[in-house]
Amino acid sequence: MGKISKGTKCSVNGCDEDAVRSIDIGKVKEAGLDAEGAKRAYLCKAHYKDYKKGSKKSSQIERWRHSG
Ligand SMILES: [Zn+2]
Repeated sequence: MGKISKGTKCSVNGCDEDAVRSIDIGKVKEAGLDAEGAKRAYLCKAHYKDYKKGSKKSSQIERWRHSG
């Protein structure tokens, strides 16, 4: 995942923290985060954690879907 320029704010609605990561917007939404962006979303530390948690969860659901 690419580096982001300093001063970029988190893309999650209502969050005004500095972003630390840029993630594909589709993946961010899949993880259950309410973010805005054309192609990429910028996430702060806290939301990046949420994203990792959320994406883990959704990939587990994917696995259930495919195994069923
Ligand atoms: Zn945030």
